[in-house]
Amino acid sequence: MNSKTNSNCKYILGGGISGLLFAFYNPDYIVISPEIGGKLSNEHIAGTVLIHDSLETRKLLSDLDIPLRLKTHVIKYFIDGKLKDAVNLQETDRIISKKMNCAPNNNLNKDKTLSYQDNYIPILDINYQTLISKLEKRIHIIKDKAIRITSDEIICETGRFPYTQLISTIPAPVFWKLYQQEKKLEALPITFVVSRTNPLPDQKIIWDLVYFGDKKIPYTRVNSMKNGIFLYEFTGKYEKNEIKKLVPGLKIINHWYDHYGIVKSNLNNIPPPKVRFLGRFATWDHRVKIQEVIKQSITQFDFVSVWNKQKDFNLNFFDFNVQDIDKQQVLTKDFALRLTDEVHELLSKINWKTEEYKTVQIDKSQILEEWIDVFKYWLGIGNVWGFSIEDFFTEFWRKSKIIDNRYKKFIKPKKQADAT
Ligand SMILES: Cc1cc2nc3c(=O)[nH]c(=O)nc-3n(C[C@H](O)[C@H](O)[C@H](O)COP(=O)(O)OP(=O)(O)OC[C@H]3O[C@@H](n4cnc5c(N)ncnc54)[C@H](O)[C@@H]3O)c2cc1C
Repeated sequence: MNSKTNSNCKYILGGGISGLLFAFYNPDYIVISPEIGGKLSNEHIAGTVLIHDSLETRKLLSDLDIPLRLKTHVIKYFIDGKLKDAVNLQETDRIISKKMNCAPNNNLNKDKTLSYQDNYIPILDINYQTLISKLEKRIHIIKDKAIRITSDEIICETGRFPYTQLISTIPAPVFWKLYQQEKKLEALPITFVVSRTNPLPDQKIIWDLVYFGDKKIPYTRVNSMKNGIFLYEFTGKYEKNEIKKLVPGLKIINHWYDHYGIVKSNLNNIPPPKVRFLGRFATWDHRVKIQEVIKQSITQFDFVSVWNKQKDFNLNFFDFNVQDIDKQQVLTKDFALRLTDEVHELLSKINWKTEEYKTVQIDKSQILEEWIDVFKYWLGIGNVWGFSIEDFFTEFWRKSKIIDNRYKKFIKPKKQADAT
């Protein structure tokens, strides 16, 4: 499905799996991308990218009429010259350190979110080509490449697109470069080598993925693909002749490197107003997997349903069609008092009185419950005055701009003056 117009001005940058999934669950958005499939267009990478068996991924398959096929992905560990089913914490640290090119126990330079402790992952057997072509048929796409992004416009090679909302799935360093802002985001390149050489020829054992922890073995992990093909991963950027020197017997069918192979997660990568980052490379968070992207894409709808659910409940107290200023004021007072009461309930769940410090046992589930209660009354006040979701977003961003300016003008200079 293709379209050139978008009266809503809602766009998704990037046609990889993240962009396609978001567009599928949010049909008022249009994808802008020079190509479709992104990383998954490479059949070898696609062979290593796993879709975990979760509620969201099952929902996706059902929504797309793709039959459910369960699979197990068996993981092994080769360390101290031996193949193991599991590793202890120290061995895990060695594997991570090797992959992240840093010394063991170096907490600064390590992405702790890399997980090496599973011996299998329950996954779904999915043909990515089928998935991508099914998604592609159900969404709107503009084939173009962004060359500059401003606070309200995406400038592409062949068109210009003013936006009110932008979901960026392109790698964060590319986004910030196009947005003309500096952000310090680190990554390590991975060199991929496709080969028929089995790294464990003598092991009569079933495996899909093996991590190699010994330093004298230059590759960090190997995926066993279909048809006797193996995908080797090396941390760093290597040419073919360098790989041949590093692993003399390795028969190289194909080789390439990915500049952003290993993302060093950075939680300070916060998007500008009107922009949302989605996917591992856009959020710059190594923990983000496809199933989270599906969840977040569906959540957009969830927010609307949360809004409507509360509005529906508040129908018990007033009629949205009736404008009764007196009643609206009474209800606002009532909701504001209840909200204040809930805020105090929330306070009672934490140790906020310094003289009674640490008398309350912190229970995050209780804090969550009180926080939601506060939210329900807060939403009720908006319902009383007939505010819409659009009113909420517009006012949120308008006010944010004022507060940011106030901070820059008054608070930041004072902080700087105090520091000198
Ligand atoms: C070896 C390896 C193993 C992995 N294993 C897993 C795994 O098991 N599970 C998992 O969930 N993830 C895994 N990942 C991460 C995985 O690649 C992603 O989760 C997923 O494929 C990323 O999709 P994406 O759409 O976010 O990004 P991409 O696939 O990178 O898509 C980005 C899109 O942006 C477009 N684009 C770029 N620049 C511009 C521009 N200027 N203008 C417009 N469009 C632009 C590109 O053309 C592309 O379509 C793995 C990655 C690697 C390298």
